[in-house]
Amino acid sequence: MRILLVEDDDLLGDGLRGGLRQGGFTVDWLKDGRSAQLALETESFAAVVLDLGLPRLSGIELLQQLRQRQDRVPVLILTARDAIAARIAGLDAGADDYLVKPCDLGELAARLRALVRRSAGQASPVLTVGPLQIDPQGRAVQYRGTPVELAAREFDLLHELAREPGKVLSKDQLAQRLYAWGEEIESNAIEVHIHHLRRKLAPDLIVTLRGVGYMLPKQPA
Ligand code: CA
Repeated sequence: MRILLVEDDDLLGDGLRGGLRQGGFTVDWLKDGRSAQLALETESFAAVVLDLGLPRLSGIELLQQLRQRQDRVPVLILTARDAIAARIAGLDAGADDYLVKPCDLGELAARLRALVRRSAGQASPVLTVGPLQIDPQGRAVQYRGTPVELAAREFDLLHELAREPGKVLSKDQLAQRLYAWGEEIESNAIEVHIHHLRRKLAPDLIVTLRGVGYMLPKQPA
């Protein structure tokens, strides 16, 4: 899952990015509100971690604009311990959750998983699509009740397809969700991951729509 981190403090931002990456998230980190606004208009993220005190455009203004244009991306705000008024303003402006800085990285990751789950209208933390069970927290997959070992990107790709079963995702959309800016990506990377997933799970589990993209059917074969 790709997360946009917006934090102008270098040290804190670096720690948050490292911790989230370790938790299996793809992370893009921006340090001002205006750049974050642009990124959110053009790219798709599973969730946003947003500091409120930011240069060029405040976190609150960014949030207000985001919700004004009906963007429903889950947002978790980071606030100072004593900044209760800012926390209330953030939640009222459309934030979904908050954490007080400095926050525990395990808790941040768990809250992000919960936010993404809730935004998808999903009750259980384990995703079930036909014979597949996907546990985002443990990064584990079972196929017909048997655990299957997947590489990190293979897991991420399967998870993206399983988050929206029945929906066709293009190669570009998938690449955008799996790779942060500046990360090396081979032109055939997505095809290669799909190939491995089919070999490890089942050949006809993921459907290819030629020239369009890939889909995990709601009731896969
Ligand atoms: Ca700040």
